[in-house]
Amino acid sequence: MNILREDLEPLREVMKKQGYYFANEHTVLKTCSWTRNALTQKRFCYKCKFYGIESHRCIQMSPAAFWCWNACVHCWRLRPQDVGLSWNETRMPDFDGDISELVDRIIEGQKRLLSGYKVHSKVEQRMFEEAMNPKHVAISLTGEPTLYNKLEDLLKEFHKRGLSTFLVTRGVRPDVLLNLQEKPSQLYISMEAYNREMYEWLNQPLVPRAWEKTMETLRGLPDYGRPTVLRITLMRNINMDDNAIKGFSKIIDIMQPTYIEPKAYMYVGASMLRLTKENMPTHEEVMSFAEKLSKETGYPIRSESKPSRIALLSKLEKPIRFGKGCPGGWSGPD
Ligand code: SF4
Repeated sequence: MNILREDLEPLREVMKKQGYYFANEHTVLKTCSWTRNALTQKRFCYKCKFYGIESHRCIQMSPAAFWCWNACVHCWRLRPQDVGLSWNETRMPDFDGDISELVDRIIEGQKRLLSGYKVHSKVEQRMFEEAMNPKHVAISLTGEPTLYNKLEDLLKEFHKRGLSTFLVTRGVRPDVLLNLQEKPSQLYISMEAYNREMYEWLNQPLVPRAWEKTMETLRGLPDYGRPTVLRITLMRNINMDDNAIKGFSKIIDIMQPTYIEPKAYMYVGASMLRLTKENMPTHEEVMSFAEKLSKETGYPIRSESKPSRIALLSKLEKPIRFGKGCPGGWSGPD
């Protein structure tokens, strides 16, 4: 299937200039800033602190580079329209092709992206060698991964090779998420709206019944059999008032997530075309929101990370860990 070369070349070229690596026509990787920080400064991401993810051994990727069912106001993803293209993002074609070969290309891509650190003066050889042997995959980056027709096979192949997987989705595909035999190591549902009306303008669905589909997914998650996370991206003057506390508490009642991660919106990328710096809350504002939500839901605050402006709420005393974690291991609030 060759549709991309002609139609999407302009977007592809922009993305390559922004550091994206294409493992094939629909799969893209990009080095996370925390992978860089871990290698050069031994500063690790909050998922290292919360869940033991070794940031320098993490692949940030998406199998649905150009496809999504939402056009969220806060999204930093470059959309075809942002580069003057008209493109139907909602219709991801079925892709065939060997999954084992695809995972080879993804791992090879990660090694290429990080190869320059071999000679970096601040990078320890041990850390570089560990980075050449990835242990974790963050299936997020861009687009909606549940639109990829071979998502389950991809998860299976990563797990077979000993990589843990965090799948980040908007939950718009209950037909996929609730029927996976091979589930991700941890499932993230991203939500910023707590009712349909707000969802329409904040998450701008590109398909009919997207809110209803999301709610269908949430109702199927209480016994998902894997840790689940409700990720709430907080925007000042948009979804941080007392109505939001009440609204998200109802969502939490339905989903009963293992973890809740209220996290500050970051004024970056294409979102700067739609929002202002004013919408980016401070860490203190995030923690004040987390305290109110904790009171309302009965989920204790277990940790936080100031650099990432995020809190962790959970009924688990200690989160489930997936890697050997960061120097110093698990610790409470900063
Ligand atoms: S887990 Fe997320 S934040 Fe941490 S290194 Fe991977 S992509 Fe970056």
